[in-house]
Amino acid sequence: MTRRHINIPVFIPHLGCPNMCVFCDQRTITGTRTELETVRETVDRCVGTSSGREAEIAFFGGSFTGIGEELMVSLLDLAKEYADRGLVSGIRMSTRPDYIDPHIVSVLRRYPVSQVELGIQSMDEDVLRACRRGHSPRDTERAVKLLREGGLSVGGQMMIGLPGSRPESEKECARFIADNCDSARIYPTVVFRDTELARMTERGEYDPLSVDDAVIRSADVLEILTGSGTECLRIGLCDSENLHSSAYLAGPNHPALGELVYGEIYYRIISAQLREKGISGCGAEISVPDRHMSKAVGLNGSNRKRIAGEFGLKSIRFRVDPGAPPYRVSVKKIDIGGN
Ligand code: SF4
Repeated sequence: MTRRHINIPVFIPHLGCPNMCVFCDQRTITGTRTELETVRETVDRCVGTSSGREAEIAFFGGSFTGIGEELMVSLLDLAKEYADRGLVSGIRMSTRPDYIDPHIVSVLRRYPVSQVELGIQSMDEDVLRACRRGHSPRDTERAVKLLREGGLSVGGQMMIGLPGSRPESEKECARFIADNCDSARIYPTVVFRDTELARMTERGEYDPLSVDDAVIRSADVLEILTGSGTECLRIGLCDSENLHSSAYLAGPNHPALGELVYGEIYYRIISAQLREKGISGCGAEISVPDRHMSKAVGLNGSNRKRIAGEFGLKSIRFRVDPGAPPYRVSVKKIDIGGN
């Protein structure tokens, strides 16, 4: 959660993606060429501002291994130049599970690929079908196995609140990622205009999640991931991903969605301990890990208010427990005003 490196994102246009995912607002971006010199300029600019932090070139935005071998290899060669010069530590990319095969793996193995992120989205056959995703859970299992056997690290991207999805199928997907992947990203489903999901929403066939529901369901899967030590790299789309444009139609859109989810996780941990220790109607001191203070207190102090109200606490003192690992919290009763 507290990574010290940065990604140098290189957006790969979809070049007319043949798939039909109902939530996708990127299929209309067709025919845009990826100019190697433009990529080089992007990387040069970011390398110049990475100020000593470890950086990776990240080919995101499309299905990197589905763009055609010639272009893919040109981009990998370009990225490798930077790695060979010690300017970046590696290359990462996002792609679809059905765009991984033994040949692709053999190509990737020739480069300093730090991680391949798979758009898993769901491990529920019915959800994938309802989303017209065009691949099955078996494709995902096969892709993960091939990448692992090729010695490559694997990240799993999953979505929350897809058509037909239930909290249980999302937890099942999180368990798959926790058992098989090295990192995760969680994306609550957002509805963009001119997508099939927008039409489904307008016809009343799809109900977008509220922010509150997205937070609860994302926290449910994050608990599974953190419980297994799987690093979660991101929760929710980036601000740059059309969330503030006229393309946004409906769904959980909050500028600090990730913070709300981490706040929910800390609320669950703290309230469970207060309950277990029978602390209520008094003062409480809550020790939390260094660098997690804002997550524990909650956005705008929301956890402080929620916990105080729920347990009738007259005073709450949050303190940093230096060196405590993430999510280790300890709670104790404190005397206030001689009571
Ligand atoms: S989300 Fe689906 S339709 Fe959109 S670019 Fe990716 S694979 Fe293609």
